[in-house]
Amino acid sequence: MDTGDANYIKKLNRKILIEEIIRNKSLSRSTLARITGLNKATVSVQISDLLHENIVIEKSEGELVTRGRKPILLEINGDAGYSIGIDIDADNINIIFTTLMGKPFHKMVLKDYQLGQITNQLIDAISPIINKFNRLYQPIGLVGVGVSIHGIVNNKNDIIFTPNQQWSNINITEKLIEAFQTTVFVDNNANFSVFAEQVYENYLSDLFCITLHSGIGLGIISENKFYRGYQGFAGEIGHMIIESDGGICACGNKGCWELYASEKVLSKKLLERFPTLSLPDGIKDLSQDEDYLAILDDYLNYLAIGLNNVINIFNPEKIILSGSIINGNSPYISKIQDKLTSKINNYREISASKLGPDASALGGAASALKNFFGVTMINFNDYNYLDSDILKT
Ligand SMILES: [Zn+2]
Repeated sequence: MDTGDANYIKKLNRKILIEEIIRNKSLSRSTLARITGLNKATVSVQISDLLHENIVIEKSEGELVTRGRKPILLEINGDAGYSIGIDIDADNINIIFTTLMGKPFHKMVLKDYQLGQITNQLIDAISPIINKFNRLYQPIGLVGVGVSIHGIVNNKNDIIFTPNQQWSNINITEKLIEAFQTTVFVDNNANFSVFAEQVYENYLSDLFCITLHSGIGLGIISENKFYRGYQGFAGEIGHMIIESDGGICACGNKGCWELYASEKVLSKKLLERFPTLSLPDGIKDLSQDEDYLAILDDYLNYLAIGLNNVINIFNPEKIILSGSIINGNSPYISKIQDKLTSKINNYREISASKLGPDASALGGAASALKNFFGVTMINFNDYNYLDSDILKT
């Protein structure tokens, strides 16, 4: 074997070991050897490197074993460093900080940002916080930043177009890299949303997430990778035409799905009929109101038309629907499923997101962790972070 091969195998083993330590939260060297199939000497050498790099720590809090010895368990060294996820939405910028173990520990929401000034405002707001946390999360500090854009981002991290900010063909990465002195990724919010769903809640190697906010986006993970298409624009599903002579869309076509099935449209219709309604919480009080049920039924009919198309194109195992009204709102899901009546439609499950409006920022932070660890998958499904007080604020 030449050294090229040896280095490749070493890197591959390291990746597998980190993935298993993350997935299992805490485990011994011998368990690690057993589940990865690697021999104990290989595990030992690799773990020694990871301990040296402060990526992994040893703990001895496990159950007592024979003769009273406690096994030494390995965990990711959560507080040795941190990552940041930033979601630039139409009305606010949501920023979440997570430890190397993916635990959200700080959240900021910037409102009233000015178009054209977003990058500078972000830098001004976050830089002092980074200085503070760089001192606390040592010795590694900040490992990366993931920025979620509600618009089209190409394969080179360039923002091609965002309808809310009217950004076109700009690159904010370089400025952020210079300011934060770390790796920065920019991606579409649907991609970061589906990634957050996979990492925090629904670990599957193939997963679909449809975001229903002001527009509609589709994030696809296929064999643990984003499906991006030729230039990176795949998943612009909101511009699937569902009414041949429908309303005019900003994309230049008529009758696009998001003109009928985005939550912006549902909110508008509900507020026209119930002007004092507070969304999304006020919906609970309307559950028996006939006008509400008629508006909802019309909306869900359109939502089901698009979903039917998505299901027929992809035959997905699981689709998660994410939006501020549908999140956690399971009655909607059964109503939608009742409308998916095609005999050839096939999928296993449709569910409402539990991550809420934090999904994109969490996905951005998790992407930065994935890059730092050099892994293919991150699985924090067993860590129960979604009840975190940080995310409730
Ligand atoms: Zn369109």
